[in-house]
Amino acid sequence: MDEQAHKVVIVGGGAGGLELAAKLGRKYGPAHVLLVDKDGGHIWKPSLHEVAAGTLDIHREGLSYFMLAKDCGFTFIYGELEAVDRQARLLKLKPVLSDSQDEVFPARSIAYDTLVMAVGSKSNFFGTPGAAEFAIALDSTAEAERFRLRLLHQLVLASRRKAAEPGYKLNIGIVGGGATGVELAAELLEACADASFYGLNDLDPAADIRITLLEGSPRILSALPEKLSTAAQKLLESRGVVVKTSVRVASVAADELTDSEGNRYPADLCVWAAGIEAPAWLSGLGLEFNRNNQLVVDGSLRSTDPSIYALGDCAQAPWIGEDRPLPARAQVAHQQASFLLDTMHERIMGRQPRDRQFQFRDYGSLVSVGHSRGVGNLMGVLSGKSWFVEGLLARLMYMSLHLMHHLAVLGPVRTGTLAIGRLFMKRAAPRVKLH
Ligand SMILES: Cc1cc2nc3c(=O)[nH]c(=O)nc-3n(C[C@H](O)[C@H](O)[C@H](O)COP(=O)(O)OP(=O)(O)OC[C@H]3O[C@@H](n4cnc5c(N)ncnc54)[C@H](O)[C@@H]3O)c2cc1C
Repeated sequence: MDEQAHKVVIVGGGAGGLELAAKLGRKYGPAHVLLVDKDGGHIWKPSLHEVAAGTLDIHREGLSYFMLAKDCGFTFIYGELEAVDRQARLLKLKPVLSDSQDEVFPARSIAYDTLVMAVGSKSNFFGTPGAAEFAIALDSTAEAERFRLRLLHQLVLASRRKAAEPGYKLNIGIVGGGATGVELAAELLEACADASFYGLNDLDPAADIRITLLEGSPRILSALPEKLSTAAQKLLESRGVVVKTSVRVASVAADELTDSEGNRYPADLCVWAAGIEAPAWLSGLGLEFNRNNQLVVDGSLRSTDPSIYALGDCAQAPWIGEDRPLPARAQVAHQQASFLLDTMHERIMGRQPRDRQFQFRDYGSLVSVGHSRGVGNLMGVLSGKSWFVEGLLARLMYMSLHLMHHLAVLGPVRTGTLAIGRLFMKRAAPRVKLH
């Protein structure tokens, strides 16, 4: 590797970081562009509720960073960042251990000239007793897989218990009625119905499984227009999901949730999707951060250290024209990655980046409410008005967001080939992953 080359190191190959690494790598090559991630494979995070429900197989959906690095022309470094020596411009990575705790890669130091933090976020339990212990958060593929296996286990147990205990129900509690909670509830309904085809014939998903969605605000999808919340709630309730709003969960136990009024909700399985925070170590870098540990960046996405930029969920960036910061959404991370291309170009060329401000263009929000349905609002780019969409059209548009991510990373030919390949695989595989 050319030791003199200006090194842009991107930490976190998620919705934003990977797109930036792929686009920069194609232009400048592996000596200039390095991507660090704690996982060996990439998955688009908004798909994690499908992995959890078993309707998406991580072993087919995941893309290897090593393969992407070769194809897109960046260097991939497998390892988890644990500290930054800003004085020496060095990243400290933890050793990578195998399942049997053998050292696969030792602890390493990586030099950078420009650093882009894109490490995303994790669920915020807000200190709720029992939440970290008993609830599963869909923060990573490992957690989504853990939920899927527990769900399969519980479905098998439920089909056995049903015979012995008349009136028995398998209870699934979801804390948080944002996009993650709503999409998971809908996906679980369909996954449980599908699972009953495969050996769990005694189970009647409509009668024997109860999904309860608990939301602290007066309405679900509270960050989105009211019409959207109403449509999503109607759809969920028409399919049997119990939706409770203005409910603050105060504690989580192995088999139930309790709210601040003392009401109890049985939950054999609990998913926590009630807010996010950035990794705690970000607050120890000596940079400005907020109460959710997000790095505070200016309109050019630069932190209080001029060599360090941040994008996506781990950053608090100003929303020009609004009196609140940008929301933690894949669309924001995607647009910020495109914005930083120009800045990184200037830095690689050894020039001072032009003074530009990131302007988020909100194209609307789409929420998947099952395999064939969605709800959403689309923003007119020129008129600024929003249109309500629902049904199959909204679902297809939702799927196109995932395709656009693949397009940015893989290019049109490979994205097309992959999409067709997956369509055929779906016909050959069971509708839910059963093992
Ligand atoms: C189930 C679910 C559904 C969602 N649905 C939607 C949706 O419909 N629409 C929408 O706009 N948004 C949705 N989101 C939110 C969206 O996924 C995030 O806003 C988006 O992924 C943020 O992108 P990012 O690049 O900031 O981080 P991420 O995509 O989270 O990527 C972060 C990356 O950093 C890596 N990393 C973390 N820590 C370290 C470390 N210490 N060292 C090295 N690597 C590290 C991780 O492995 C990961 O690859 C959803 C989220 C979830 C969980």
